[in-house]
Amino acid sequence: MKIRAKNIDLHLKYTFTISRSSEDIAEVVITELEHEGIVGYGEASPSGRYHETRTTVGDFLRSVHPERWDSPFQLEAICTQLESMSEWSGSARAAVDISLHDWVGKKVGVPLWKLWGLDKQKTPRTSFTIGLDRLDVMEKKVREAEQYPILKVKVGVPEDREIIATIRRITDKPIRVDANEGWKSVNEAVEKIKWLEGEGIEFVEQPMPAGDLDSIARVREKVKLPLIADESCVNVRDVPKVKDAFDGINIKLMKCGGLREALRMIHTAKALGLKTMLGCMIESSVAITAAAHLSPLVDYADLDGHILITDDPFLGVQVIDGKLVLNDLPGLGVVPRLESVRRVP
Ligand code: MG
Repeated sequence: MKIRAKNIDLHLKYTFTISRSSEDIAEVVITELEHEGIVGYGEASPSGRYHETRTTVGDFLRSVHPERWDSPFQLEAICTQLESMSEWSGSARAAVDISLHDWVGKKVGVPLWKLWGLDKQKTPRTSFTIGLDRLDVMEKKVREAEQYPILKVKVGVPEDREIIATIRRITDKPIRVDANEGWKSVNEAVEKIKWLEGEGIEFVEQPMPAGDLDSIARVREKVKLPLIADESCVNVRDVPKVKDAFDGINIKLMKCGGLREALRMIHTAKALGLKTMLGCMIESSVAITAAAHLSPLVDYADLDGHILITDDPFLGVQVIDGKLVLNDLPGLGVVPRLESVRRVP
C-alpha cells in the first residue's frame, strides 16, 4: 500500500472571516492511497485552531508507513494505530481514513452510502455560510446565495446586531448563527442570544470559548435557542462532556480524524439525546463528499466548503437547491475535474 500526498491551494471567492481569523486561500493536502491498482482519494484541511498546518500534515503522512498494512479493509486497526501516533492530527488522520473508505468502496464496487445501509434520498439540505465582512459585502453575499435555502451567518463581533438586521432586511430564510467562541461573558452571550430569539434563528453555534463549559451551561439555562458545540467537541470522548452545556454537536472530519470517528460521534450523541450536525472546514469536494455520505444520519448539515471556493479540483456531491445530492459511483464518487465530464452519470 502506498500513499501519495499533494499540496493544493483552494482559493476562496471571498476572504473568509470568522470571529478569530481570516483567510483567502485554504491550504489543503489531497491524498491518493494506492493498492492493487485502485486509488482511494482523501483530503486534509488543517486548521491552526486544532494545532495543525500543511507542514504537520505532511510530516504525519510521511511517518505513517502504509507498507506495514496488509489491506485497506483493516480500517479499524489502521485508524486506531493512526490515533495513537499523535493527538492533534485530526485532518491528517482524516485524509488517510477518507482514502481508505474510498478505496474499500471502489474495491467492492459500491458507493459508501450504500455500504453503510443509508438512503441517499435522505441527505439533509446544507446551509450556506456568510462570513464576516463589511455590511454591504455581506448583503451582496446573501443576495448571491439566493439558491441556498438556509444561511449560516458568522457572528461573535461587536457588530452582531447590525449584521443580522442587515440580512433580515433582505431575506426571511432560516438563519443559523456561529459565534466561533466570540462572546466573552455569560452576560454578553445571553443578551445577544435573547435578541436573536426574535430574529428567526434556528440555533447558535459555539457562543463562548471551547473550554468554558460551565459558563455555556449557564447561558443555556437562560435562553431558548438550541446551542450547538463545535470547538468544544472535537472527538467522541468530548461528546459526553458537552451534554449539559449544549443541545447538539457539530461533527467535522477534520477535527475528529475521519469517517469512522464521525460515525461513533453521531451514535454517541444520539444516545445522549443530543442533536447532530455535520460541518466542514474550507475543503474540496473530496472531504465534503466524504462527510455527505454520512449526512442521511444527521439532523443538520453545513457542508458548503466546496461551494465557497473558485477552483475545486474534484467533482463529487452536488448541492441542488440546498440539498446534498450524492451519485452512484463506487466509494466516495469523486472524480478529478478534468475527467468529470465523461465519468459522472
Ligand atoms: Mg463552527
